[in-house]
Amino acid sequence: ARAAAAADSAGPGRTADGHEVPLLANIGGPDDLPAALQNGAEGVGLYRTEFLFLDRADAPGHDEQVASYRAVLEAFPGAKVVVRTLDSGADKPLAFLPPPGAEPNPALGERGLRLMRRYPEMQRSQLAALAEAARDTEADLQVMAPMVTDTEDAEWFAAAAEEAGIATAGIMIEVPAAALRARHLAGPAAFFSIGTNDLTQYTCAADREIGGLSRFQDPWQPGVLDLVAVAATAAADAGRPCGVCGEAAADPVLACVLTGLGVTSLSMGATALPLVRAALARTTLEECRAAADAALAARGPGDAKRAARAALTGLA
Ligand code: PEP
Ligand code: MG
Repeated sequence: ARAAAAADSAGPGRTADGHEVPLLANIGGPDDLPAALQNGAEGVGLYRTEFLFLDRADAPGHDEQVASYRAVLEAFPGAKVVVRTLDSGADKPLAFLPPPGAEPNPALGERGLRLMRRYPEMQRSQLAALAEAARDTEADLQVMAPMVTDTEDAEWFAAAAEEAGIATAGIMIEVPAAALRARHLAGPAAFFSIGTNDLTQYTCAADREIGGLSRFQDPWQPGVLDLVAVAATAAADAGRPCGVCGEAAADPVLACVLTGLGVTSLSMGATALPLVRAALARTTLEECRAAADAALAARGPGDAKRAARAALTGLA
């Protein structure tokens, strides 16, 4: 029992029957690295680079960016480090990248990749700093774009990454249209990473920044899980990885459901890693799939959670 407990709390993510689900860390910068390493992250699944850009009058210069990115890449030699390009706008406004006009609904405005397409030089300079940071390191640098909506967006980002000399460029799936069109987006995108925070907001039409809508701000909503299934299936058909990097991945029961839906890696705040690792270790892939089916058949998020729990007997 002691050996099993030890296996639960460290080592790579895998189900009881050995199906591997790499467990990665979400970070906002080098300050988050110690917790990621202590909790056994197998890499970085989401580096939210906008924290380097917040609360300042001008964008950080090339050298400052390179130093910050390199610190992260060097902490995970040989491992995957997924860096998200600037996700500015809406809840993360940047003084030097203003949207073109007043936005009564900024979450539905120019944010993420949309803003980078307005300010392509900002994107170019960030990708150049990332490419330089990765030079002569052993890390597996991968970049991904936030708020991708259609194939044209995905192609634009893939071309920008290629121009910067970065070999692996993927996209976040956080807009329902992108999930629905995942089959098409898997052409230009090397991988998907599902952002369940925004995907829930946009699927259920419930602002993530306000209170009082909790039932619709819940990634257990069966409509959200349906879209996860669509994206994961499209990725599998195209031979592409499909991770989840939203808060949903940090819920041990939901992590099993996501695995059952075909998600191939889970990225979360580092402190959640041990509990998710332990939940997977107590569950077979078949049980994850049964839990996923039960959740998809539910009437709402509460039912979905109860039904999934009932199917995951190892977590009792
Ligand atoms: C998400 O939307 O799920 C996500 C991971 O990105 P952020 O929370 O930074 O918008
Ligand atoms: Mg998001």
